[in-house]
Amino acid sequence: MALDELKKTVCAAIDANREKIIQIGEEIYKHPELGYQEHKTSDFISLLFTELGLKNISRHAITGVRGLISGRSHEICLAVMGELDAVICPSHPFADPASGAAHACGHNAQLASMIGCAIGLTESGAMEQLDGDICCFATPAEEYVQIEYRKQLMDQGKISYLGGKQQLIASGAFDDIDLAMMVHSETNAPAPRVVVNGSAMGFIGKAVRFIGKEAHAGGAPHEGINALNAASIAIMCINAQRETFRDKDSVRVHPIITKGGDLVNTVPADVRMESYVRANTIEAMQDANEKVNRAIRGASYAIGTTVEIDDMAGYLPLHQNEAMSSLFAQNAAELLGNEAVQSGLPFPGSTDVGDLSYIMPVIQPTVSGFCGAAHSRDFCIKDRELAYIVPAKLMALTAIDLLRDGARHAVSIRDNFPRKSVEQYKALWNDILENGR
Ligand SMILES: [Zn+2]
Ligand SMILES: [Zn+2]
Repeated sequence: MALDELKKTVCAAIDANREKIIQIGEEIYKHPELGYQEHKTSDFISLLFTELGLKNISRHAITGVRGLISGRSHEICLAVMGELDAVICPSHPFADPASGAAHACGHNAQLASMIGCAIGLTESGAMEQLDGDICCFATPAEEYVQIEYRKQLMDQGKISYLGGKQQLIASGAFDDIDLAMMVHSETNAPAPRVVVNGSAMGFIGKAVRFIGKEAHAGGAPHEGINALNAASIAIMCINAQRETFRDKDSVRVHPIITKGGDLVNTVPADVRMESYVRANTIEAMQDANEKVNRAIRGASYAIGTTVEIDDMAGYLPLHQNEAMSSLFAQNAAELLGNEAVQSGLPFPGSTDVGDLSYIMPVIQPTVSGFCGAAHSRDFCIKDRELAYIVPAKLMALTAIDLLRDGARHAVSIRDNFPRKSVEQYKALWNDILENGR
């Protein structure tokens, strides 16, 4: 079948399943779950994989699930990913009342479009003409949150990294995959659009514990050591460092106090903070992190507490593969028109796709169709076609381009990328964190 005809057949298969794909996305939207706790979502995806006839369905990193669609030959494997987790946003209209979880980052749409892509490629018979396999991969815990909870999972030996794709990388679940792609939501875009080849910041994760001394807050405060005062001063010292952060490094430090004390009538003796130290290069992350740690230690010294600073592997800056981005952009231009495609705009925030982009060629374009600020109560889907259907088509079309004709595009992209091993990945993070100790 000619390329154009093949692409039309795949899009027609996706269109024929339009309502089903949207329904999958809406079903997940109504049942949001937090990272590493996405059990129901993971079971649902696993069931859909089984229904679609995916092979070798397996679980990874607690709730991650992957399955294979075989091509005509098995020269190369392309992952098509969607993220399972929601964010904590209790005021969102579809928040889970117990956990406060809400799909206020659009990850439900990623899963639906990943399934839509799989439907398009399987139902159309396209895989019989493609020289590679597709690994559909629902990944857990992209949002780097609930640090204390995840540290407990680490202590229990269930994970060794806080982020989902990090854990998947470390556990070897990406070892047999050569390239990967997924689509993220873009909210409040000025017009319907696709943005390719954007950057995202990296960060170091941080958990801090100030340990003071309890005393009666009214009767004998002079006998106490106030850990909350140390934390407050630490935040002020961090703020005083902001003028030293260069605009070009896009440094963002945003600590929160996750525990401010135990009892209002007792001098706080156990106060905990979490923070990210973000920047767009590893060097800038390290520079800012050193200043932040100095601020924390200085505040602790001033008040006389002790302090424990736990620096953890956050996410690496995102570097998207240009050749894959350009194939994706061509498909987007054909589907939506040239004016709807933009390149190089920064992706707001950070993503564990950054870590994957260190070890293999990866893209994470964004597609609009959402409104309201991300991670806020206002976030919602404005245009279901753009949110669910367009990304499914664009990923399927790009998969066809990559895997056609002996997978020549995919093979060339793979062979031109300096693939990193799991050991190199772990060593990089060890080096980054060692620097701040
Ligand atoms: Zn998010
Ligand atoms: Zn997200």
